[in-house]
Amino acid sequence: MKILKFGGTSVANAENIKLVKNILQKNEGTKMAVVVSAFGGVTDLLLSTLNLASQQDLNYENNLNKIEERHLQTIKELFPVELQSGILSKVKSELNDLETLLEGSYLIGEVTPKLGDKVVSYGEILSSFIISQFFKSEGIELELKNGRELIITDEVFGSATVDFELTYTHCNNYFTNTPHKVTIIPGFVSSSYSGKPTTLGRGGSDYSAAILAAATNAEVLEIWTDVSGMYTANPKLVKQAKCVAHISYEEAMELSHFGAKVLYPPTIQPVLHKEIPIIIKNTFAPDDEGTTITKNKNGSGKTVRGISHVSEISLLSLEGPGMVGIPGVSKRFFETLSHEQISVVMITQASSEHSICVGISDKDAKKALLAINKAFEYEIASNKIKEISIESELAIIALVGDNMKSHQGLSGKMFSTLGKNNVNISAIAQGASERNISAVIRKEDVKKALNTLHETFFEENIKQLNLFVMGVGNVGSKFLEQIRLQKSYLKEELKLNLRVIGISNSRTMAFHENGIPLENWQNFLDEGQKANSERFIQAIKELNYRNSIFVDNTANKTIASHYATYLKSSISVVTCNKIACSSEYSNYKELKKLAKQYNSPFLFETNVGAGLPIIDTLKHLIASGDKIIKIQAVLSGSLNFVFNNFNDTTTFHDVVKQAQEEGYTEPDPTIDLSGIDVMRKILILARESGHELEIEAIKNDAFLPQESLETNSNEQFFDSLIKYESDFQRLYQNAAKKECKLKYVAQFENGTAKVGLQEIPKGHDFYSLEGSDNIILFYTERYINQPMIIKGAGAGADVTASGIFADVVRIGNF
Ligand code: ADP
Ligand code: ASP
Ligand code: MG
Repeated sequence: MKILKFGGTSVANAENIKLVKNILQKNEGTKMAVVVSAFGGVTDLLLSTLNLASQQDLNYENNLNKIEERHLQTIKELFPVELQSGILSKVKSELNDLETLLEGSYLIGEVTPKLGDKVVSYGEILSSFIISQFFKSEGIELELKNGRELIITDEVFGSATVDFELTYTHCNNYFTNTPHKVTIIPGFVSSSYSGKPTTLGRGGSDYSAAILAAATNAEVLEIWTDVSGMYTANPKLVKQAKCVAHISYEEAMELSHFGAKVLYPPTIQPVLHKEIPIIIKNTFAPDDEGTTITKNKNGSGKTVRGISHVSEISLLSLEGPGMVGIPGVSKRFFETLSHEQISVVMITQASSEHSICVGISDKDAKKALLAINKAFEYEIASNKIKEISIESELAIIALVGDNMKSHQGLSGKMFSTLGKNNVNISAIAQGASERNISAVIRKEDVKKALNTLHETFFEENIKQLNLFVMGVGNVGSKFLEQIRLQKSYLKEELKLNLRVIGISNSRTMAFHENGIPLENWQNFLDEGQKANSERFIQAIKELNYRNSIFVDNTANKTIASHYATYLKSSISVVTCNKIACSSEYSNYKELKKLAKQYNSPFLFETNVGAGLPIIDTLKHLIASGDKIIKIQAVLSGSLNFVFNNFNDTTTFHDVVKQAQEEGYTEPDPTIDLSGIDVMRKILILARESGHELEIEAIKNDAFLPQESLETNSNEQFFDSLIKYESDFQRLYQNAAKKECKLKYVAQFENGTAKVGLQEIPKGHDFYSLEGSDNIILFYTERYINQPMIIKGAGAGADVTASGIFADVVRIGNF
């Protein structure tokens, strides 16, 4: 004999019920009990209708109409017209009874658990009737048996306990005598010793099916639902979750206790003793293998089997120095909760002689608080125990696996993974069986925590990076293009999965939860909402993704002023914008501190030398114990381009113009030509070498005439260059006479920095610097005579984009 249970979604409408029929027909000839849930969503509707009625809110009538509509519609879709009237009249008569019950509740403005059980049973009573009639009409020979006649409970309405002995007797009597191969049974419903309707708790149809399986010693219990089995995490929240082919009863029990709703927790108990296998199957993909739940096959397989969570949890703590001396505190504490029928989801390790801390459901929090305060009234009044504290809107997240006990370090890995993503942990518990480790976290962090833990424990080290890109001009668009081209390489070779979740320019911003399609991000962005940098931050925070990285491709001061906010929310920052790192030293220092504190890297390699690994090299030198003695460098790709192309056959004006047009200068060329840009760069290098320096302290031998420096527009600026052409020619001639070349050099030594134009003689490292290249010489304690030299393209959108890209990859490997 087989037991098959079909959940709410599997029987949500006519179309789905037809799929169920196909599954039954495949089992033709087998003796079966088929347990069905209410049509998906109907139980919730019944409960909210009763709630409205009991609050004397007439809207309950609208709800009732919806319930009626759902059932009548399904009948109309399932049956030919000539069969409908008999079925409709039976259903309408049941609905009339339901209406009378609701009216009663409305009139007295009250609801009792007893009435609740009665009302909520209608879902399964109606669904099982309609479904069984349909199967009959399709030629399946069957009987509809009321679950209330089979499953007997005590009279604790709303939370009844099954009397297994009586139940098994009823079941045996029925199943040994029934001549029918197929019996349809409403799940969830039961009755008390005296025949009053009771129910088995939300999700209880699974339990009905398990009870029937145990009673009949069924060969298998099949739970047909809307997913292809038990997954490594809830597939609705973790896209990468995978179906687990085989799992032990204990593992399944732990996972469902901690929220894997696919199986109602009490379901395992009745079948476990009899070792009846449970198979979870998908009604919508019946050929998928599903998950088989059996006794532990010992030892083999993964340590962590699954991750689950329960939301809406409150932490209740009883604390006080006086607790040590009071006998039986724990007993009284737990008794009080039990008396109020409050179940304890977890007991945390914070529990000691001085404190007890438990996780309970949010909905019980108020009741628990009142009851515990009352129970310990005397001790609280005499200061032996502190006022009870309660923290709500939390969640429990649990790692589960039979083999976890034989592996050390799993909890360390779990907590460091959560810590890296700024998921705050309020309490921790480990089951005595060492089959689970659970942590209490904030409710809003659940999705992030599930995904990041899943990545750590299940995803063969593939790490997902979620990017939010501000600025998609020259550099930004190249950056997006590089991601697009490198995506599969990164996944295969570096185990990094880069997704661009948000982009913004100065006009619009757009987000896509699963990643913006990089083939046509322009259209996507054009159709986005109005850009607003504050709202951009807000959106990233609300998405609350793990490994979030904010990428700043602008040169904007306001954007740079937001870095602290990002870092504090554990969002890493990668930037080519020099403003933050060259602002006041205190700000630079603060950002570095926040990055450490919140585990959110702050990387700005492209602030100096575009894609050249200058800052990274400097960091490595220092980390390995070296000391910087002197830095000499040509750090302006723009100025290098200008002085490499300027001679007595050209004009200074034309060369600068060309540099601007070819994208070698900032949009405002005075930033480059005044030396400000180079000052910022040497300042950042000095700071990265460990020196506290402000930009005002850097000496700048400006070569531009004062008038050019003080212009207010690019046009005025270029005019001034024409006016002073002879001065520029003189600079050139003087150098040429000595066979020198002009280079704009930055230097840092003995704690001071200076920048300025220098005449570089033949043979010098700087002399043959081409085009817009940069060169940097690090003189250190180790490289004292021969400096370490880094040389190469130091400007341009392509190389800058690849520098940003490299920073993002660095974070991936962090
Ligand atoms: P039914 O109505 O068939 O009883 P439920 O809604 O009670 O179905 O349970 C199935 C749902 O359980 C899935 O749709 C999924 O969202 C949820 N779920 C939570 N955790 C898991 C998990 N680890 N594996 C599979 N499903 C899960
Ligand atoms: N219909 C009930 C519920 O929604 C029982 C079940 O579907 O398992 O809780
Ligand atoms: Mg269910």
